[in-house]
Amino acid sequence: MITVLSGGTGTPKLLQGIKEIVDPKDLTIIVNTLENDYFSGVYVSADIDTVLYTMSDIINDETWYGVKNDTFTTHERLEELGSPELLRIGDIDRATKIQKTLLMQNHSLQESVDIQRQHMGIDSKIIPMSNENSDIKIITDIGELDFHDFLIKHASQPEVLDVKFSKVKPASGIIEAINNSKCVIIGPSNPITSISPILSLDGVRDALKNTHVIAVSPIIGNDSVSGPASKFMKALGIEVSSVGIAKLYEDFLDNIVIDQKDIAMKDKLNDIINKVTITNTIMNNLDAKKNLAKIILEGIL
Ligand code: GDP
Repeated sequence: MITVLSGGTGTPKLLQGIKEIVDPKDLTIIVNTLENDYFSGVYVSADIDTVLYTMSDIINDETWYGVKNDTFTTHERLEELGSPELLRIGDIDRATKIQKTLLMQNHSLQESVDIQRQHMGIDSKIIPMSNENSDIKIITDIGELDFHDFLIKHASQPEVLDVKFSKVKPASGIIEAINNSKCVIIGPSNPITSISPILSLDGVRDALKNTHVIAVSPIIGNDSVSGPASKFMKALGIEVSSVGIAKLYEDFLDNIVIDQKDIAMKDKLNDIINKVTITNTIMNNLDAKKNLAKIILEGIL
């Protein structure tokens, strides 16, 4: 069994490569739920849906949000009716979200996701990190903002002073999945709002200390490949580089995979982490994703 910790952009790119070389039945994906909330009357678990769509090959992999070639009839009609949406939800994507909302009347989030993944023909296990809702606030120079307000309404522009989120209970099976894995892969996801919520669950860091853990850095040079990760790291006083990433995970990490452009950081990283792997980590096509997955899993499969 291989377990992957995932957010909703960098790690799903890597999952497209991993699923080509690992039997999907041998894969468990633990997914961030920090940003889950209700929008337009439906439950939106963006990272989970991105992983569901990625594993069933229907993801819109230009935006890493929603379904490829989706239509927006409902979204446009809501706008005409005077109820514009904060999130632009496509029609097929909305059906998934409606179903999840309905399922959650009688099931936990975890059970609902499991029902959906079966209907989507996905053989891998997909576990939301928690069945509880998190409360996340981005503290900025223009005040305290909800995550989606910061990301969408304000286009991640305000200066970030702090990021705060509540502690939640782990969903069932998370610690067991880590304990039963040959290795855990921390994909190149936002270390503050995607990975650290998973690491903050009771028992996760301890379980990782007893497992072989490989992390791919989402930072190249002194910036994130995309999204607000570098802004969040800076606000929390963490060096924006692969060295900053290594320090965040140093108590349990066995191998850090960094981009070839950061070869000069190798010695500094070797002082923190046993093994440093240097390769191309920019995943802009399937070959790059497969190559990275192969390098990560060398000697493990
Ligand atoms: P979110 O849930 O949408 O924030 O997505 P994630 O947390 O999964 O991923 C965001 C992180 O992925 C950002 O910090 C990016 O720097 C990183 N990322 C995106 N694409 C790539 C890539 O091709 N290579 C690497 N190394 N990192 C990437």
